[in-house]
Amino acid sequence: ATISAADLEKLQVLGHGNGGTVYKVRHKHTSAIYALKVVHGDSDPAFRRQMLREVSILRRTDSPYVIKCHGVSDIPGGDIAICMEYMDMGTLEALLKNGVVFNENLLAKICHQVLSGLEYLHAHKIIHRDLKPSNILVNHKMEVKISDFGVSKIMQRTLDPCNSYVGTCAYMSPERFDPDTYGANYDGYAGDIWSLGLILLELYMGHFPYLDPGQRPDWATLMCAICFGEPPSLPEGTSENFRSFIECCLQKDSSKRWSATKLLSHPFVSNIHPKSV
Ligand code: ATP
Ligand code: MG
Repeated sequence: ATISAADLEKLQVLGHGNGGTVYKVRHKHTSAIYALKVVHGDSDPAFRRQMLREVSILRRTDSPYVIKCHGVSDIPGGDIAICMEYMDMGTLEALLKNGVVFNENLLAKICHQVLSGLEYLHAHKIIHRDLKPSNILVNHKMEVKISDFGVSKIMQRTLDPCNSYVGTCAYMSPERFDPDTYGANYDGYAGDIWSLGLILLELYMGHFPYLDPGQRPDWATLMCAICFGEPPSLPEGTSENFRSFIECCLQKDSSKRWSATKLLSHPFVSNIHPKSV
């Protein structure tokens, strides 16, 4: 059933994203809790376009690993609001900042769910393009879901260079910067896998793998490190399965990188049962 904005009562602000605000809201009649993402009518047209793109993708998706959309209100020239399922533990970024220790076992369970989400999206020709810890949400059941499709792309044909600069550069794969060198048969899906590899490394190490703890990113240096440096890898003392999994994700040559489906058969995650978390 679609939910009308008039039936929702704002409880608190959950966060601010690109051009919009996310509120925790309660349905006045059912008392159900949702997250409501609002982009105001007077905001930059680019933000409105992003929101409408996100809406068009959320409307196409139905997966336990992708955030669910319960309704959209789009007043022409006015606010755009998306009512989404509320994830009560917040983002992976917030959990990391709050000192949660991501050991291998926990990471394998998170990874299995993110990969299942990516397999679903890629099978539906959707590339996320902005996968990062702040766009992965968790709830108290330890369900992990992909969110924030503002810069995602729906592939019309299978081959598309799609190397436009969107999203955060930090998690972008070498072929997004330099398609000629790293992007033989580049179709865009492998970029999400690169981001996943970096996210797992960051959660395990506690800081972004290309930077020292607390170091501020200098985008030009970072881009050079991604394109010309060795891909980052796990420190000593981690299991062979985990190291190998990261290596399969962080192949600089996008054609050597494993797909989401193939990675689901990797021993790091292959014996994880989704409901055992
Ligand atoms: P960016 O625009 O760079 O992706 P962002 O991820 O912070 O930034 P949003 O996706 O708009 O932007 O979300 C803003 C914040 O709102 C998130 O960081 C998160 O804390 C919170 N949030 C978003 N969606 C939900 C949800 N479904 N349940 C709970 N909290 C949410
Ligand atoms: Mg986001």
